Amino acid sequence: MKIPFNKPYVGSSEQQAVSDAVQRDVLHGDGPVSERVEEMLKDWLGIDHAFLTTSCTHALEMAMITLGIEAGDEVIMPSFTFVSTANAVVLRGATPVFAEIEPDTLNLDPEAVAEKITPRTKAIVPIHYGGVACDMDAFTDLAETHDLYLVEDAAQCVDAYHEGQALGTIGDIGCYSFHDTKNITSGEGGAFLTNDDEIAKRAEIVREKGTNRSAFYRGEVDKYSWVDEGSSYIQSDVLAALLEAQLEKRDEIRRKRKKVWSTYQEALQPLADEGLIELQTIPEYADPNYHLFYLRTNTPDERDELLNALKEEGIQATFHYVPLHSSPYGRNTLSCTEELPITQHCSETLIRLPVYPQLAERVDRVADNTVQIVRRTLAAATMAQ
Ligand SMILES: *Cc1c(COP(=O)(O)O)cnc(C)c1O
Repeated sequence: MKIPFNKPYVGSSEQQAVSDAVQRDVLHGDGPVSERVEEMLKDWLGIDHAFLTTSCTHALEMAMITLGIEAGDEVIMPSFTFVSTANAVVLRGATPVFAEIEPDTLNLDPEAVAEKITPRTKAIVPIHYGGVACDMDAFTDLAETHDLYLVEDAAQCVDAYHEGQALGTIGDIGCYSFHDTKNITSGEGGAFLTNDDEIAKRAEIVREKGTNRSAFYRGEVDKYSWVDEGSSYIQSDVLAALLEAQLEKRDEIRRKRKKVWSTYQEALQPLADEGLIELQTIPEYADPNYHLFYLRTNTPDERDELLNALKEEGIQATFHYVPLHSSPYGRNTLSCTEELPITQHCSETLIRLPVYPQLAERVDRVADNTVQIVRRTLAAATMAQ
């Protein structure tokens, strides 16, 4: 058995779309295809403004520039996240403040966030881990009460929902990723979403190197020039074409991922009932996109043994984030001293199993094998204790 961890789900429709795109005269961004995709995203997600970007990392950077985050400001986020969430803040000279997560979803804990709010706090950035919604009612309340911005790092969340509302459309700004490890991909890419007209106005300029070129093309100004800080965050129309073809397959992608996810869940549930492992909890308000499937062992040693055993049998399972507060940059440069025991323990006991649409056809066998490997490995580990 040789099961890779991830495989982009691209085929002839994506090939055709890219081939068509390179034959047109427009290869840069904000061309006809990008415009179509942005309109499609706005309709589908029910959001007023959607900008395609070069990545989610860049959408997050745009968010921090657009909100005016600067030196002296604090932005609260989980430590259990991808580096881009924190880098966007660090690049502004501001300080990321790491708060604890909830052990059953690995999502940011609203109560832990409340304890970290100071007069310097400007924003909260929850990430929806694995496309499973955070408790957005609690975060919306917190943001309103303390007059803070709410930025959703919704990198993993395309086609995932909180009480029917698309993730990425609930906070002041939402950021998507179309990296090829995510459910919907353009190779590299992202989107910046907002319902706020003022934020959108500034974001448009920040994304266009700090110029009002977009307004110029709309005929609103008679020449364009440098009006604000900014960078080059616009996705090429060629990649937008790939993205358009992917978005057309989104129902199929979701259906096949759900099959994979549900098969693992059903096969592994008895082991969870016996207390050998823990499985992910999906809160009632969350309708996920099956971005990832994970299990947690009881101890870090068991995790390491199980990871090795799965790899030996050809199943490319992996761990996930090294918590940012305990990373070399966190400890040495940001001088993080906080203790986040839940984050630490969850990170050290986590295993992600392969999930991608093509796996739907053979997931029954993979799940059966996984169950056998988990039983064998954890039984041995328990005996050794
Ligand atoms: C993937 C990911 C990112 C970065 O996305 P890119 O499009 O690769 O820049 C940021 N945050 C989270 C939580 C992610 O999972």
